[in-house]
Amino acid sequence: MKETVMLSDSIDDIKKAAELIKNGCVVGIPTETVYGLGAAALDSKAVKKIFEAKGRPSDNPLIVHIHDIKQAEKLANNIPELFYKLADKFWPGPLTMIVPKNDIVPNETSGGLDTVGIRMPSHPVMRELIRLSVPIAAPSANRSGYPSPTKASHVMNDMNGRIEAVIDGGDSRFGVESTVICFDDDKTVRILRPGSVTKEMLSEIAGNVIVDEAILNDLAEDRKAPSPGMKYKHYSPKADVKIVKGDIDSFCRYADSLNSEKLFCIVFDSDNTESLHAETLTFGDSGEQIAHNLFAKLRECDDMGAETVLVRSPEMDGVGLAVYNRLLRAAAFEVIEL
Ligand code: AMP
Ligand code: MG
Repeated sequence: MKETVMLSDSIDDIKKAAELIKNGCVVGIPTETVYGLGAAALDSKAVKKIFEAKGRPSDNPLIVHIHDIKQAEKLANNIPELFYKLADKFWPGPLTMIVPKNDIVPNETSGGLDTVGIRMPSHPVMRELIRLSVPIAAPSANRSGYPSPTKASHVMNDMNGRIEAVIDGGDSRFGVESTVICFDDDKTVRILRPGSVTKEMLSEIAGNVIVDEAILNDLAEDRKAPSPGMKYKHYSPKADVKIVKGDIDSFCRYADSLNSEKLFCIVFDSDNTESLHAETLTFGDSGEQIAHNLFAKLRECDDMGAETVLVRSPEMDGVGLAVYNRLLRAAAFEVIEL
């Protein structure tokens, strides 16, 4: 395929992208979570192109992005009351809800499941794009397995020549993918993937919120993944990532004991790293800051030729759970306790 075109977020360029989507092409699009790889959700041929561009396994379903609640009612049936309450509170925003799908949603989009994940994004460019075209299926715009893109340049790096265009809408605000939930019963939601809509926030609306065990654990071979994305290697740069638990002084001593030239460290802004000899990057202090920066910092380490990356372990409350869940997979569950 020819070179991928970089579009701006002007209304004229959003109109061009809307035409591309309606014509069955794949476009890189900014959202408030991470950049997505969008195509017409109900067009199975267009959706197949997303899987090809990403190198994504065909049983890993795509989230369908909508502009208004009426579109959700066309895609799904047996929508529970709680879905509407959560939509009222968190949409448009970074929450994906899984409900039984209607026949118009092709199997390619749902990864062969009889359910569909639906989200109403808040990014103004993404909203306008859907309004001018159709519901858009969009996974994260990285090559499968690699960290999600949070800048248009990341999408260009991974996808140049593989997709028609990318819209540059600036850095992604949240930096981690949407929270994915399903409904166990009328009052109970189960978090399948943590995100910026946190367990604490969901608990204000739903009576009962369960964090699925697969979020913090490597799934046993024999357990069927409730959310297929969980079983794949994910969010990993080329470098070998390790999470390091312990105080900053122990971290510095450990890093220096490795005596490796291509070692990079990612630490908190407030850490005192005077004694650290390895190349050091910072990713913030709060869960929100770390979520915003994590994937970009992992990509930077790769760009600078890192072989090993040691990452300070974030707290697991609030959006920290989402950060820790992504890091665990980036590190292939390797955690060093000092
Ligand atoms: P991505 O598009 O890369 O953010 O990945 C979307 C993830 O959402 C998938 O990997 C699944 O784990 C999850 N997902 C989407 N649709 C469904 C569904 N119908 N059932 C369960 N999980 C889903
Ligand atoms: Mg992804």
